[in-house]
Amino acid sequence: MSKKEEILECSFCGRKKAETDLLIAGMDAHICDKCIEQAHGIVAEEISDVKSSNLSKDLMLKKPLEIKQFLDQYIIGQIETKRAMSVAVYNHYKRLLQKDTEDEVEIEKSNIILVGETGTGKTLVARTIAKMLNVPFSIVDATVLTQAGYVGEDVESILSRLLQAADYDVDKAEKGIVFIDEIDKIARKGDNPSITRDVSGEGVQQALLKLLEGSVVNVPPKGGRKHPEQKFIEINTKDILFIAGGAFSGIDKTIGKRLNRQAVGFGASLEDDKIDEENLLQYITPLDLKSFGLIPEIIGRLPVLSYMNPLDAETLRAILTEPKNSIIKQYTKLFLMDEVVFTIEEDALNYIVNKAIEYKLGARGLRSLCEAIFTDAMFELPSSDEKEFNVNKEYAEAKLTNTTLKKLRAAS
Ligand code: ADP
Repeated sequence: MSKKEEILECSFCGRKKAETDLLIAGMDAHICDKCIEQAHGIVAEEISDVKSSNLSKDLMLKKPLEIKQFLDQYIIGQIETKRAMSVAVYNHYKRLLQKDTEDEVEIEKSNIILVGETGTGKTLVARTIAKMLNVPFSIVDATVLTQAGYVGEDVESILSRLLQAADYDVDKAEKGIVFIDEIDKIARKGDNPSITRDVSGEGVQQALLKLLEGSVVNVPPKGGRKHPEQKFIEINTKDILFIAGGAFSGIDKTIGKRLNRQAVGFGASLEDDKIDEENLLQYITPLDLKSFGLIPEIIGRLPVLSYMNPLDAETLRAILTEPKNSIIKQYTKLFLMDEVVFTIEEDALNYIVNKAIEYKLGARGLRSLCEAIFTDAMFELPSSDEKEFNVNKEYAEAKLTNTTLKKLRAAS
């Protein structure tokens, strides 16, 4: 053994070469396998710290106007909701960033409730916000939730899904967004609170309260029912943004009645502000949610209330082509992958919109209609020499038989 080899040691920990599994030589120094492992751990930790502080910076950079502009790229119309959401989200993350200050003023959570018919974009708005913020996002259906101890899922399973969406990173999950769909389905069944056990209505609302207001919750990582042998993960919900959505079918009548009563009570005051009978949802107040059967505590914890407008022909037409990932843009891309240039004429687009309205398919139906019209071409063109595919009204009409339309109607 030469003299030089004898003194070889790790320049970081001083271990002799013989005490290491591997000693790597640098210019004037050596590093052993153990120190490499340790250094790797430090680097990983630093990077994740930088990432989470980047999250904060990203959030701070976007002002409500910019948030709305982001939403505009994906969501057509729904201006009131986009504005309300932008402010709520901005305030929510402002609150999150300022929580370390020793101020007595505590900003409350700005959880949101969106009221509007199905297919008007409630989920889309929530999903788009999560995409912009790059935070974990999960959707839960309130109808599957029941009060603890009954058949169905415990409310904690809401957080299991968020945890899964965050790849089990608790820190990330604690800053995520949860969309609770069909919140109207857990409305109290009667006006009388708890005459009978209301396990899937008021009971669930009560259970949801603690999640919405912010508390540490024991979450079964795999979801489903809690059982004693399962290990729990603690999640603090105080920084999780909850967005609830529901169709609240029939609530427009409640709003209408209330407005009429007010008109009588306050003389001519409402006569001056003409009521738009076609879209009563725009006048919704927390009071209407209470009449519908949400308990006041839940309403209080969803302080931002907004509504979705029904989708008219013009909006449906815009949804087909305008959003950043509109249906038509997606088909254009798919065809282009087979080097086929796809074009669709205005009359064909209008035809699709009219069919969606006639068969009450809504925005969701636009995709099924397109699917029915383009499937033959998608099947045949990749194996043919055809390099162009133009769709006009006649082509669309020929592909959409009445049977197909009826089937779509039945499935919607
Ligand atoms: P909801 O949650 O209200 O039932 P969704 O958000 O699931 O409705 O909307 C269904 C689909 O319809 C969306 O995936 C989207 O493609 C389309 N859509 C609905 N409303 C809009 C809109 N305002 N802008 C763009 N696309 C929309």
